[in-house]
Amino acid sequence: MSTPTFSNNKNYFLSLEEALKLSKSIKIPIFEEKLPIQNTLHRVLANDIYSNINDPPFDNSSMDGYAVIYSDTIDATETNPIELKIIETLPAGETTSKKLTSGFAIKIMTGAPIPDGADSIIMVEKTKKINDNVLLYSPSFPNYIRIKGENISKNQLIFEKGTFISPREIGLLATMGISEISVIKQLKISIIATGDELIPPGKELLPGQIYESNSYVLEGLIKEMGHIPIRHDLVTDTIEDLRIELDKASNISDLIITSGGVSMGDFDLVRKIMEEEGEILFWRIKIKPGSPPLFGKWKNKPIFGLPGNPVSSHVVFQILINPWLKFITKANGPTPKIVKAKLLENIKLKKEFINFSRVIVENTGTEMIAYTTTHQGSGNLHSLTTSNALTILPYNEKGTKNQIVDVLLL
Ligand code: AMP
Ligand code: MG
Repeated sequence: MSTPTFSNNKNYFLSLEEALKLSKSIKIPIFEEKLPIQNTLHRVLANDIYSNINDPPFDNSSMDGYAVIYSDTIDATETNPIELKIIETLPAGETTSKKLTSGFAIKIMTGAPIPDGADSIIMVEKTKKINDNVLLYSPSFPNYIRIKGENISKNQLIFEKGTFISPREIGLLATMGISEISVIKQLKISIIATGDELIPPGKELLPGQIYESNSYVLEGLIKEMGHIPIRHDLVTDTIEDLRIELDKASNISDLIITSGGVSMGDFDLVRKIMEEEGEILFWRIKIKPGSPPLFGKWKNKPIFGLPGNPVSSHVVFQILINPWLKFITKANGPTPKIVKAKLLENIKLKKEFINFSRVIVENTGTEMIAYTTTHQGSGNLHSLTTSNALTILPYNEKGTKNQIVDVLLL
């Protein structure tokens, strides 16, 4: 494939929609593996899951109390309790062959099966036990019985292929008695941070240097999506070092993410080496922050080149790489949540771009509000830690005080 020279057209930016569409034209092979459910957190389900059981499997009590016959208890009051004879105590995990008849009660614990003949439960707090008898101070309550299959029923489709697995899904798999499931195999994702000015945290800063942070953020974002980050050593701004590291990454990983070196500076060599030796599918998107990302292939492996500014690299991962990874693995999550909120101030916008400003979103009790806290420089990672959302102000949206806008919860 002949490589287009993108830097020839210094004014062209794609829309985010075009970029997302183009990125989906490069696919990679996806495999499945079977795992015990406890090892599937943040993984993607490879098959539909149907329930083998009813949940609950049998009618049972939702209260500690007494299983009784409702008509026996109708007239019970605080001052005129009704007395029944206790014929058995039934803990959770046991069953009884006794059948309850009028005038009798079976003491029952939460989760124990409802005995034959009983049609309601009275909670222990409304009773008083005297030897083998119980006094009821109110009528019993039929709703304290959890009915067989009321949560899920046998053969019901519970999870569709592509479900992103959280602790809740793992819990429900266990509830259904499923100990092992098929999930999508994790992708190995290389992270290459570039920049002569960067040193790893833990070392002493020399003049002109800053601590490298992007690779740590990206590592976490990749883990949150259930994949395997491979953080490479820092790479200097030289074509030779870049080539060596990109080659290494393409040998060991399914996807390469670089940070830095994709804008217009003299030492933005990721863009240069990709133009000259790789394949670029697109470069630069109408988003703020984070407009200079590129996407293409290095030696048959897809590569996203993220801008170096820390906020930009985070935002671009969330709006470009997260959707691509979900598309590739056919996953329905993790989905950054979008809600509506009222702007408390005018937001400074870049015209024609989608603006992702960092805001705090709060629920006042009557409405959701959004306001900025810190200055919005794309190098200010602190602004991301003091915010909990990003505005989504597309293209020609105004972003004025009191406007209701979409915000993406972080
Ligand atoms: P670049 O995209 O390489 O021009 O970098 C843009 C800005 O982000 C510069 O101020 C860099 O020092 C900074 N930067 C680049 N990479 C990183 C990184 N991995 N961690 C923290 N800051 C970075
Ligand atoms: Mg740089």
